[in-house]
Amino acid sequence: MSGHACRACQENQDADRGGDPWAIALLATGYVRLSPTQYYRGATFFVSRICVAELQELPAATRSTHLDEMALVAHAVFEAVRPRKMNYEALGNSVPHLHWRLTPRPHDDPRPSGPIWEDPDFLRALQSGSARPSDDERDALRRTLLDELQRSGVTIERTFC
Ligand SMILES: [Zn+2]
Repeated sequence: MSGHACRACQENQDADRGGDPWAIALLATGYVRLSPTQYYRGATFFVSRICVAELQELPAATRSTHLDEMALVAHAVFEAVRPRKMNYEALGNSVPHLHWRLTPRPHDDPRPSGPIWEDPDFLRALQSGSARPSDDERDALRRTLLDELQRSGVTIERTFC
């Protein structure tokens, strides 16, 4: 998969250039990026630095580090918003580039026992962009998540906020 054809590679490159307003931090194996759809407050992506479609395509040592970092990013999200439950998904059906959708499910979740994909209001927000935070809300959330990441002890190579 060539970099320029992949949306996730493009977003990683935008972050590298300082041009991604959603980027939070760069870790050893991935980029931490706030989701532009904040239907679930705190929803965050952890996007592999390497463009692979499947976990087994990462070299073994990189894979271990990547999974560990994913768990630490999820923990930071948990500490930031104190959800009822974290959801961890690496689906990759529309964007194959390995990325984790880390979704904090709130205490007042209208559908707590189902996946987010069964909530039609979430799907509408995803498609319409109606759950985009204001710039101020976005930046406050990024800083809160960065604070929690720094507290987690994970090695941060670069911060974007
Ligand atoms: Zn890619």
